[in-house]
Amino acid sequence: MIEELTSNAEQIQDELLREILSRNAGTEYLRRFLHGQTDKQLFKENVPIVSYEDLKPYIDRIANGETSDILLAEPITSSGTSGGQPKLMPVTAEVDKMRAIFGTLYESPVMKPEIETPSGLKATSVTTSIFNGSDFRAMLPKLYTSPVETIFCPETQQSLYCQLLFGLIQRDEVVMIGSTFASTVLRAIKFLENHWQEMCSDIKTGQFSRWITVSGCRNAALSIMKPNPVLADLLEDIYNSKSWEGMIRKLWPKAKYVKGICTGIMKQYTEELDFYCRGLPLVSSFYASSEAHCGINLEPLCKPSDVSYTFLPNMDYFEFLPVKNDSNESIEMRSNNEVTETVDLVNVKLDHCYELLVTTSRGLYRCKVGDVLMVTSFHNNAPQFQFVERQNVAISVDQEKTSETDLFKAVTEAKALLDRIGFISTEYTSYADTSSAPGHYVLYWELKEKERNHCTEPDAKIMVECCFRMEESLHYTYQIYRKKNIIAALEIRVVKQGTFEALMDYYVSEGASLSQYKRPSCIKSKEALKILDSRVTGKFFSPKSPL
Ligand code: AMP
Repeated sequence: MIEELTSNAEQIQDELLREILSRNAGTEYLRRFLHGQTDKQLFKENVPIVSYEDLKPYIDRIANGETSDILLAEPITSSGTSGGQPKLMPVTAEVDKMRAIFGTLYESPVMKPEIETPSGLKATSVTTSIFNGSDFRAMLPKLYTSPVETIFCPETQQSLYCQLLFGLIQRDEVVMIGSTFASTVLRAIKFLENHWQEMCSDIKTGQFSRWITVSGCRNAALSIMKPNPVLADLLEDIYNSKSWEGMIRKLWPKAKYVKGICTGIMKQYTEELDFYCRGLPLVSSFYASSEAHCGINLEPLCKPSDVSYTFLPNMDYFEFLPVKNDSNESIEMRSNNEVTETVDLVNVKLDHCYELLVTTSRGLYRCKVGDVLMVTSFHNNAPQFQFVERQNVAISVDQEKTSETDLFKAVTEAKALLDRIGFISTEYTSYADTSSAPGHYVLYWELKEKERNHCTEPDAKIMVECCFRMEESLHYTYQIYRKKNIIAALEIRVVKQGTFEALMDYYVSEGASLSQYKRPSCIKSKEALKILDSRVTGKFFSPKSPL
């Protein structure tokens, strides 16, 4: 199927666009631009490139009860929400079908409850809706050690506890451990660090912890749990080892790989996850968003840094807006510095970077996803993309623009210094502190000792050096601004262990989906900032300008 799709990418894309346009040309939205026509050229000339925010008023009208043919001809069956900021997306029966095809690639340990829009449509996250499909539900017991009831449990802590417990009881059958994103896999390991004693006691006695109150989970447990002191002792020995290095491998000796997206913003989790996996491959299997299903990784065993996603031309109609990088300095810009000429899927160029636009059968037309991708190769005629960065998630205190990639690079350089003092930096985020002038970058770092039970404070001299190393590693504009005192000294605030879990809890309580949670690279919310600041154990500043 993949060979056929990628060989005929151009025809499949054109056919898909024709289908979407002929079906939806009569909608209120497209009528404004196409007056009932369906020609591809007209579509590109007349339909504007938009962002989700531009389409939101239309989507909100549908969610509030107006007919869906404002945007799309097909009736809507439900709507999707997106992580971080809940984002409503229309979903039709056809979209559900495509999701099911793509969905065999998804794995996720925790579901989010469905919510209803004012007109009664069900809104749910992409992963939840895939699992909810009846085909997938039927397949679950064949694929996972977690009983269906624990996967659909609305209480995330209880769900995680049960799924880990059942995974341990059946440890000899487990060949894969995973979730959608690497951050969630790590979250599960940290949960295990806090709950292993309780789990061992449950396994030893065959009893089930009292705080697990959801009846589905309790009933599932009753059917499987019996006292197993031998297993409990074995697990206790494993947990008590000096270090948790390779813990996943020790707990699940037959595991062949760990699944969880490690690209993009998830890159920063790779090192820590690797520590727990020790040698087990980390597999990033797909690239998708609430807006569209895009690509899959055809070489799942490659290193996380080498992952590229092959776009599937039958999923949605893709266009690409050129973005300047070292390989395509020469792209034409309009006078207002905006590029508006898009490139079709099969016409993208090797090593060039693009911003992704999607046109879908769910009512999005030429909609920016907000991601920048780079072409690394082709599989037949379908391009393969490396995820470069999420756009507009840069930190900035003046005119300078620091991207996620810039920040990641600087943190990587700086945290190498921690090695000497036996620490690893497990999580970070940033904040543009402009409360005093000039403003400065604040980095929140959560640190962890390499060896357990070796609890010391990180050395202040090294932390100050880390601040300086970060500044040295940031881009030239930053350094010039710093020299001219347009930006003040960079600050690292070390936070207590568990702070980033608390941050995640906060975003989840605000509506983010746990299984799709992505830690923001730059904090904007006052509440989130309070959570971080209340857990600071040390503050360090760069001693001098890098230039
Ligand atoms: P959401 O709209 O909340 O489902 O999030 C979708 C976003 O997550 C995408 O637009 C990307 O920025 C990010 N994302 C999804 N899959 C990947 C991936 N495989 N690698 C890197 N980032 C990804």
